[in-house]
Amino acid sequence: MIIKDPQKLLPNQKNFDWEIPEMILEIPNHNVPLHPKTIEKLLTIAKAQKKIIAFQPILPVASELGLPPYPILAYLYPQELIHIWEQLRQKIELQTQEIFFPKISYTLISETDIDEQLHYFANHYGVAVKPSYVRVIVGNTCNLKCVMCPYHSAELKQTHSTDFFKGKKAMSWQMMQKLAKECGKGKIGIIIGSIEEPILHPKLVEFVQLCRQQGVPRVHITTNGQLLDETLSQALLEAGLTSIDISIDAATPDTYRKVRGADFNTIISNVINFIKLRDRLNIGCEIRTSFVRNKNVSLEEEKQFREYWLSKINAIFILNLAEYKESNMRLETMNKAGNSKLQYYRQKAGGRWPCLFPFTEITVLPDGKIYYCIETLFRLGFEQNIESLGNYNEQTLKNIWCGDLFNRLRQDLILNQLENRQICKSCDTWMSQIMTTSTKEEYQVLTTTITEIYRKINSND
Ligand code: SF4
Repeated sequence: MIIKDPQKLLPNQKNFDWEIPEMILEIPNHNVPLHPKTIEKLLTIAKAQKKIIAFQPILPVASELGLPPYPILAYLYPQELIHIWEQLRQKIELQTQEIFFPKISYTLISETDIDEQLHYFANHYGVAVKPSYVRVIVGNTCNLKCVMCPYHSAELKQTHSTDFFKGKKAMSWQMMQKLAKECGKGKIGIIIGSIEEPILHPKLVEFVQLCRQQGVPRVHITTNGQLLDETLSQALLEAGLTSIDISIDAATPDTYRKVRGADFNTIISNVINFIKLRDRLNIGCEIRTSFVRNKNVSLEEEKQFREYWLSKINAIFILNLAEYKESNMRLETMNKAGNSKLQYYRQKAGGRWPCLFPFTEITVLPDGKIYYCIETLFRLGFEQNIESLGNYNEQTLKNIWCGDLFNRLRQDLILNQLENRQICKSCDTWMSQIMTTSTKEEYQVLTTTITEIYRKINSND
């Protein structure tokens, strides 16, 4: 057998029987060494069939639920294909991304045992797969005090046991520049405004603009929209914002005042103006509004909200009310739509699957601390000792993402070994990774335990 392994990613070659004439083994440059068990498996299959074989590891259940795919880590192919191999390989790569037709016939090996899973998805995952997005927390303040907000509600703030939301924290411009540069280079999207009102950051527009100039493919903000006046709207759109979620939670002035303590007419006119401006400037920014199912808000009002906004924009979010109870985020109600799917995957995973968030998300706090999911953010006001997985003042995102602390968390999640991971152990958020889609009237509805997203059918917006 001819072996092409320029990066020396094969394990000690003496331990294997490479006597397979007329075949070539090629190891692409992804910096991920092959596990000895994978080699054994590939060699056994190659002895039985002289056809193209590719190895692309999957993590049981998690991969089915949307874990970003691994690149192909090994190819075996007959020597007679050497002259056309370059084209064949490219076609297979496109095929694994489901963008090539007609299909090339090859054997894809994906199954992994637990040793291989730990090797590929804990020890080497960050090297092979980049984060799907970076969640950037630009501050700790908000101009509203919505009743259900675990971060800023007047009532809930009194129960905070940490000082995270005391005083004013804002991410430094230096850190923002570093993020824009790194995410631009890595072509990683950025999400802003998870626990704070991002418009309060004095450099928000410059940050969005810099991100886009540096090559960040998507920049999203979530805002309450009260400060989104015409000048700011235009500046954000021209800076290159690609999507915006505006949290409204009401269809009437009375509910809006009770829940958000602010003026309903201001928010409606701000959003309508934003839509008009986006259309006038012809900028492809997706606009969504959201509605939290607060206590004492009727289903009739939810329906009114849905109908009003879906006549103007292409997608809305309905979120179940979440509260901080018994030291974690608990939902008032969970959507039932995905129940049978949830039971199926729980059974398949033998209880719980490895939560996808530490495989897809990296969160940077204003002081450079690193978290890994919305659940960790939910506890910011209540738990002092949430482990930070790095320090962005001293490290790069790449080093953090590939670093020991992320790897160990991924390992514990794969092994479901959560004794020392109290946050994960008591968390329900991982179940929101089950999604179901259905159609209601002219809408497509994507449902998780937490949200329902309504989108107009045939909407490209
Ligand atoms: S299990 Fe919960 S706390 Fe742990 S990473 Fe997932 S969402 Fe976060």
